[in-house]
Amino acid sequence: MLPVIETIFLRQMASGDRLSLQVYKFIGAHLGKKVYVQSNLHGAEIAGNAVIHQLIEFFLSLNDTNLVGEIWLIPVCNPMGANERAHHFSAGRYCVYEAKDWNRIFWDYEKEADDLVAFTKSQLHIDREVVRQNYLTTIKQKFAKILEKINSSAGLPYTEKFSYQLQSLSLDADYLIDLHSSIYQAINYLYYFRNREESAKYFLLDYGILLNPYDGDAFDEAFIKPWLALEACFQQLGRNIRFDVEA
Ligand SMILES: [Zn+2]
Repeated sequence: MLPVIETIFLRQMASGDRLSLQVYKFIGAHLGKKVYVQSNLHGAEIAGNAVIHQLIEFFLSLNDTNLVGEIWLIPVCNPMGANERAHHFSAGRYCVYEAKDWNRIFWDYEKEADDLVAFTKSQLHIDREVVRQNYLTTIKQKFAKILEKINSSAGLPYTEKFSYQLQSLSLDADYLIDLHSSIYQAINYLYYFRNREESAKYFLLDYGILLNPYDGDAFDEAFIKPWLALEACFQQLGRNIRFDVEA
């Protein structure tokens, strides 16, 4: 099967270079979950691009009837970070213009969800999949407000525009993986979130690090925290519910 390839413009540099994202979408013949995998959010962490390259080769060898759902692959998901170089060293961890870590800039709906209890109460007796869609709609509506700011005459710093564009690709995903890597020797490990121990085991890694509590506006964290918050709120109101959402 061939991917649908989408190119998303990010910004034009003073040199005239135009930076963009390249999204590879493998869409199965049968409807199903959406999986989102990105790499190289920190500019020096290029190993994840090789992983995505291998994934693309693998999916090219399949027929679309072999795939249920869709897989979106975004290598080099942060061209600004990838372009950062200091002498021989590839840095790319911080946006040098704004002194911000590229993986601490993402929008976390949990922080704006003031009416979470009221929302949860309204969904107490509703089917899980319908609750998921209702909540996702609420998240998307709040997220859309950022676009109003981006399009306003005052504008926004680049990191805010960039984080909006990247997150807009992943908000409705079911499973999300953000591939980070080190240039040093280290153990392989996985970050995972509370109540997701069982799914962490699928990665067959010897080590997993539980991010709980953690509040850093990292990409995978900003994706899953609103769902964890909703699960916790249901729990408090006496309903045990776990959404099929993973990061
Ligand atoms: Zn990283």
